[in-house]
This record gives sequence, structure tokens and C-alpha cells, in this order.
Amino acid sequence: MELFCAPGNAGIEQIARCVPVRVTDNDALAAFAEEAKIDLTMVGPEGPLAAGIVDHFRNRGLRIVGPTQAAARLESSKAFAKDFMQRHAVPTARYRIVSSAEEGVSVLNTGEFGDSQAPVVIKADGLAAGKGVFVATNRAEAVNALNELKSGVVGAEAAQRILIEEALIGREVSLLLFSDGKDFQAMPAARDHKRVGENDTGPNTGGMGSITDATILDDSTRDRIVREVVAPTLQGCHAEGLPFQGILFVGLMLTAEGPRVLEYNVRFGDPETQAILVRLKSDLAEIFQAMTETRLSDAQVSWSDESSACVVLASRGYPASAETGATIRGLDRAAQRERTTIFHSATARGAGTGWLTAGGRVLGVTATGENLGLALARCYGAIDDVHWDGMHYRRDIGRPVEAGVSAKG
Ligand code: AMP
Repeated sequence: MELFCAPGNAGIEQIARCVPVRVTDNDALAAFAEEAKIDLTMVGPEGPLAAGIVDHFRNRGLRIVGPTQAAARLESSKAFAKDFMQRHAVPTARYRIVSSAEEGVSVLNTGEFGDSQAPVVIKADGLAAGKGVFVATNRAEAVNALNELKSGVVGAEAAQRILIEEALIGREVSLLLFSDGKDFQAMPAARDHKRVGENDTGPNTGGMGSITDATILDDSTRDRIVREVVAPTLQGCHAEGLPFQGILFVGLMLTAEGPRVLEYNVRFGDPETQAILVRLKSDLAEIFQAMTETRLSDAQVSWSDESSACVVLASRGYPASAETGATIRGLDRAAQRERTTIFHSATARGAGTGWLTAGGRVLGVTATGENLGLALARCYGAIDDVHWDGMHYRRDIGRPVEAGVSAKG
């Protein structure tokens, strides 16, 4: 099998042929797939899905895994997703949709989300690369968030509509599914750590680490999530003429009243996916193939009976900024370690043969183990091999998080 990646990076170039096509250029991607006779395309990020790459490929007779543009609205519009959940009785936080900061303030002033000291969550409707959610601890912060969103921090379009949500309290868990539009297969549950600093302090990031472990989600809660969330979501998609084919990522808060959906993503999420996929024993390409042929129920999808962890190594300044061009030492040695996989997210090759940093989150050091402690020990052991000037990471990935109103995202 030959693997191509657009545009790829220096890490994936070790196993794939990278092609310099922009992921936002549907025409160029489809033309490349035709010319190179690509049998199957898998879409990584949300942008192309929201822009209709799946519809575009299918119209040209190309095989592709992912939701259509209409189904991708579960991620690309939080207002659509909330209304969808309401239509299909999927449990989620109470919400209101507003279109101006003033309207938002008057909703807050009604007291329906609590008094001026109560936490409340403010979200931009559209795609905002993780920067559109503010978990405000009181009314004043909520008003600031409304003004900030309207001042254009995430772009005017993404914040045309704004959601005000009840702040949920509990522990977060992510459940990802393969879905072929008819059947689904759940992956092991994962948890991520969003804040840059240890003990969940400091600003929010794209994710500083993740784990999978049996203790994250007990069987009865998992069954309840499948019954109360997954089944009605997929049935709802079907009923609305949007059969969901692709990866559905359900972000949940486990509250005292039961599981509540925080968000849907319509693709693999980073860094949960690193920790999940290192446990996949079956062939991922065969699963994708089965999904496009609506025969996922026959496909072999088996997981190792282990725990796993992914620790993200970031550049100095991240998340506010990111220093790039630093020489990474020890990477090849770390990558040789047993049961360890190092995923590259922002690396480049220097003029010689050395590895250089090329962005904020640089590497995802991922390992498996018979238990979480062993998986983490392998990650941190490998990290001891790696060094660059300005490298930072969290040393507390996998430690139980306090149940609470969670990090902003
Ligand atoms: P979202 O992109 O909607 O998942 O929000 C990103 C993060 O914000 C989530 O992972 C949670 O940590 C937090 N969050 C979102 N909505 C709520 C809510 N209603 N209550 C508490 N925390 C929330």
C-alpha cells in the first residue's frame, strides 16, 4: 500500500509521500486523487469537511471517508449542534443563542443562567480552532467574553451567533466512533488535558496530552452514553437525511445527573487520537474501506487491552506564540524505544539531517503499557532522550483531574 499526504510534514514524510497541495483547495485535491489514482482518501482536519470536500470527491466518483458538508455542521456550527441535540433529546447543557453582545447581556441579566457570581460558558457558533470557548467564572467575565467574541478575536463570521450555556460540573471524557451511516464501532474512551500548565492552570491549548485507561469510563456509564447519546445522535442524523459516515468525536461531561454532550467533532481529535490509535490492533485502512462500503459491522475492529498516554512537547512561548527553528536532539533515539510512537505535529528537516521545531506543539510522545503508570513511565522515559532549547511539557499527564467546571477551550 502506498500512502500520500497533503501537505504533510517532516514526520509523516518518513512513511508517506507528501504532496504540496493546500487542504483548502478541493479542486486541486480531487485532481491529484484522480491523477495519482488514489483508492481511498481520509480527511484529517475539520476545515475541508466543513467546506464540503466529501461531497466534492463523491461528485467526481472518488472514494473518501468523512461526513458530508451538511453532516459536518455538527462541528462547524455549535448552534446547529445544540438545536440538533434538542430535536433528538440528546442530553446537553441548557443554552441560548444570541446574535449581539447586548442581547447576550440581557439574557444574562434575566438570571436564567444564575446570579452575577455564577459561572457560565460563552461560545462562538463557528469554527474557531479551539479559541472560541470561554468558561466565565462570573457575569463580568461572561460580558467580557461576549465583547471579545464580537470584537473579532475568532473572526466576525464564526461569532455572528454566540451561544450562552449553563456551566456543567463533572469530569470530561471523549468517546470517538467509527460510523458508516448505518452501524458504528466505539473506540476506547480518552481524556485530554487542555491547559498549558500543570494542575490545569494557565491558558488553554490545542491539548497538552491525553490518556486511555479503563478507569476513565466504567462499563455502565459507557453503556448509558451509547444509549442516551450515541444512538439518538446517529439516528437523528439518519432521520434528518444526513447519515453520518466518518469519525464522530463526542466530548462529554460526566455530571451528577448523567452524561452531557459538550461538543461534537466530525473527525479524529488531537491529542486523544494518538493515545487511542496506538491501541488499535486491526488495520485502519481496512476499517476506512469498510466504512465507505457501509459494512462496518463486518469489519474487524479490535483493541489491545492496555492503557496508553500521549505527552505533547511544545515550543517556548506556546500557546501565545511559538519559537521555531530550534534543533531537536535525541529524537531518533527516543523513537526506537519499545512500545513508544512519536507523532510529529510541527517538525521540519534542517539543511543537514537534523530535526527542527516548526510550530507550537511539536511532538506527541505516545506509549502503551499494561497499566497507565507504565504507559506514562515509557512516555516520560522517551522524553528524557529529547531536548531542544525552549521545549516544555506537562509532567502531570494522566493524573486524575478534579471534577469541576472545566478548562476553557
Ligand atoms: P467545546 O469546544 O464546546 O467542547 O468546549 C471546549 C471546552 O470548554 C470543553 O472541553 C470543556 O472543557 C469546556 N466547556 C464547554 N462547554 C462547557 C459547559 N457547558 N460547561 C462546562 N465546561 C464547558
